Amino acid sequence: MTMANTVWILGDQLTADHAALRGCDRGDTCVLLIESQARARRLPYHKQKLVLVWSAMRHFASELRAAGWTVDFHAESPTYRAALDAHVRRFRPARLRLMDPAEAGAGERLAATARAASISDVTLVANDMFLSDEPSFARWAAGRKTLRLETFYRDMRRRTGLLMEGRAPAGGRWNFDADNRAVPPPGHVFPAIPRFAPDAETRRVMRLVEREFGDHFGTLDGFAWPVTRADAERFRDDFLDHRLDLFGPYEDAMVRGQRALYHSLLSPLLNLGLLAPLDLCRAAEERWRQGRARLQSVEGFVRQILGWREFVLRVYRHDMPDYARRNALAADLPLPRFYWDADTDMACVREAVATLAAHGVNHHIQRLMITGNFALLAGIDPQQVNEWYWLAYADAYEWVVTPNVLGLSLWADGGRIASKPYAAAASYVNRMSDHCRSCAYDHRAAVGARACPFNALYWDFLARNRERLARNPRMQIPLASLARRPAADLAAIRERAAELRARLRRGERL
Ligand SMILES: Cc1cc2nc3c(=O)[nH]c(=O)nc-3n(C[C@H](O)[C@H](O)[C@H](O)COP(=O)(O)OP(=O)(O)OC[C@H]3O[C@@H](n4cnc5c(N)ncnc54)[C@H](O)[C@@H]3O)c2cc1C
Ligand code: SF4
Repeated sequence: MTMANTVWILGDQLTADHAALRGCDRGDTCVLLIESQARARRLPYHKQKLVLVWSAMRHFASELRAAGWTVDFHAESPTYRAALDAHVRRFRPARLRLMDPAEAGAGERLAATARAASISDVTLVANDMFLSDEPSFARWAAGRKTLRLETFYRDMRRRTGLLMEGRAPAGGRWNFDADNRAVPPPGHVFPAIPRFAPDAETRRVMRLVEREFGDHFGTLDGFAWPVTRADAERFRDDFLDHRLDLFGPYEDAMVRGQRALYHSLLSPLLNLGLLAPLDLCRAAEERWRQGRARLQSVEGFVRQILGWREFVLRVYRHDMPDYARRNALAADLPLPRFYWDADTDMACVREAVATLAAHGVNHHIQRLMITGNFALLAGIDPQQVNEWYWLAYADAYEWVVTPNVLGLSLWADGGRIASKPYAAAASYVNRMSDHCRSCAYDHRAAVGARACPFNALYWDFLARNRERLARNPRMQIPLASLARRPAADLAAIRERAAELRARLRRGERL
């Protein structure tokens, strides 16, 4: 069978309205989807991520077939090139269309692979799965040393009209962050998270992943992600109905045994294209307009998607490839083993890594203030940390993980996107979580064998980076506290930090 046109759809482009397919004719167009084992082996990606992506691709292919498209699906292909060669032998396409991937440089690389497989006419179609655009961002970013979310976010609100009343922000404020710092009382009952039992197709992919990628990070036990658009929409509606209203107040809290609290858990589905960001923001806004969710929550939620998600994508696209190599704080310790096996006495880190292995996600504050904060304070090599976040999370793709890890979390970009390093001692973790109560370490102590490692490492971080941070206005208060510490106290703390860092360098557990 010959088909004049091929539309190659990638695993994170499972959108209902695909730009490369738009306007194509079912009579002369074949849709190509490829599961590349070589791509999956590049890093030991979380098993749940592999199942999620491949099962969602298989279900997406079935939906396309049901809608009358000819689909050439290559399951378990060794490489993209092998599948492209087989596709060309079978369909002899004259042209191939590919939506430009979010990953910097990937469009050109994949187009070159298609040309090498003898499809000379390859078109990269602009990616419209996001709400912002590259030229406007480039104009805004030109000549700026630092890029800050707030200006970008307000502009996005004006452009989309989301949560706007004329030219003014709904409720008279752009940002309700200051109201969103509550901690749930002990015994608070959280809404249950819906589970989607794997169907026969998903179970086939689970067997494949166990067989071929059994040594990858995480477990498939209890895999319960939605893998179809219809189930993704059910998952979204459950969040809008049962969690959105309290999303804001408890946004920064951490509770033992709760992987979501009031977070949406929608990032893996948004990043695959099963949900569209604008529809999601509009649905959240609608809940507020109907009086079903408070404004502080809806604004907080919309800011994450319309603001942060778009902002990090644009910074990444604008600053790559140099961005991924930044290491402004010259951090060089190896990634600790407990980031893989959760074998540590630090209750907060253990909880984050064990939850991650079991479910493929952590919520934002665990990523930023536990695993991220620890890596920042200890001085772990940013490239190793970035690689770990990329492989360990079900929602991780280079465009989103790299700016979050290097920029927001580790300050490896020297403050390009964050106005200060998110460095915190145990007092923060104790205020925002119930972890310290059940921890083997003492959250009040900085020295001594049972003193919380976050404390000594925090003061040592400030002391080690005093010169680098001296001109940062938002670091003046912490640096002044450092300066006020009696010399003997600080020496003892730094000795404890040196011992902890030496243990990390030797690969020991803490
Ligand atoms: C060190 C670090 C690594 C991260 N790695 C990833 C990653 O690999 N993939 C990823 O999608 N997000 C990443 N994030 C951002 C954020 O933590 C996750 O998007 C969020 O925790 C996903 O859970 P949720 O869907 O319940 O989010 P919610 O709290 O419900 O937020 C709603 C949505 O907003 C978006 N969002 C929120 N914050 C961010 C952000 N900082 N950057 C981009 N989108 C955001 C997500 O799409 C999310 O689904 C990272 C953050 C940090 C600090
Ligand atoms: S005491 Fe320290 S290590 Fe233990 S939970 Fe609290 S912050 Fe984490």
